[in-house]
Amino acid sequence: NKNAPRLPSYLKTTIPKGASFAKIKKDLRGLGLHTVCEEARCPNIGDCWGGKEGVSEAEGKKGATATIMLMGDTCTRGCRFCSVKTSRTPPPLDPHEPENTAEAISRWGLGYIVLTSVDRDDLADGGAHHFAETIMKIKQKAPQILVEALTGDFAGNLDHVAIVAKSGLDVYAHNIETVEALTPFVRDRRAKFRQSLQVLEHAKKSGVKVTKTSMMLGVGENEEQVLHALRELRKSDVDVVTFGQYMRPTKRHMKVDRYVEPAEFDRWKQVAEDMGFLYVASGPLVRSSYKAGEFYIENVLR
Ligand code: SF4
Ligand code: SF4
Repeated sequence: NKNAPRLPSYLKTTIPKGASFAKIKKDLRGLGLHTVCEEARCPNIGDCWGGKEGVSEAEGKKGATATIMLMGDTCTRGCRFCSVKTSRTPPPLDPHEPENTAEAISRWGLGYIVLTSVDRDDLADGGAHHFAETIMKIKQKAPQILVEALTGDFAGNLDHVAIVAKSGLDVYAHNIETVEALTPFVRDRRAKFRQSLQVLEHAKKSGVKVTKTSMMLGVGENEEQVLHALRELRKSDVDVVTFGQYMRPTKRHMKVDRYVEPAEFDRWKQVAEDMGFLYVASGPLVRSSYKAGEFYIENVLR
């Protein structure tokens, strides 16, 4: 299709290497954990699982990051950029998942875990207690592991946000995904830009130290709209923002509007840092959990 922008070379990805990555991957076998990193074939797996380079393995593992999906593989929503399966009635939750996940994570020994999930609008609490229970169990078994929860918007129910926010996590993340003007065309119609800001704001008010969000670039947004989104995020006291390129999962999903040059990603990083964000990850392949452990250790614990 001559109207579709061509894939630039910096988005063609290589197979991860590195001793630390291979070791962590091997440790995973037998733990029964399913990572988003592997299932989505994320190109960053070498960077994230490898952790910091040039230090001892134990040191490196402290910043090593992986993302785990809770509450099944079927979402009650259908966003136009997302390849996750959709159903109005996904299978019920596995009541053993919090315990089993926590046990496996504590034995795996990575330093930073991102827990995320599909949206479960079918559940009375949107899955908030399930999320919170998993986090509490991880912290009981392995208090040194840093935990980030990347949640949906709980349909705007702030009591449910607070249940997760007060579970003992280190970072509360919720993705706005795109600028306000494009939200109705990009996200499921139940998602609202303002509602997402309220989720982030309420997590902060509930006592979370670090809140975080992520935006895709290349879906049709303009510069002024991105600046507007960043200003609104700062008003809601959001600490961390990440930018990555939107990649179309299949032909049934919305088109890529353009491929954003690495230099433009660098510029957004600078702009956001100047606006007061605590740290910013920005690049064509960056995803919201990209090297989250290393960034956290460098910017929050130091
Ligand atoms: Fe895993 Fe996220 Fe890193 Fe990809 S960016 S490897 S999904 S932690
Ligand atoms: Fe995908 Fe999340 Fe949208 Fe569900 S709510 S379709 S998992 S982006």
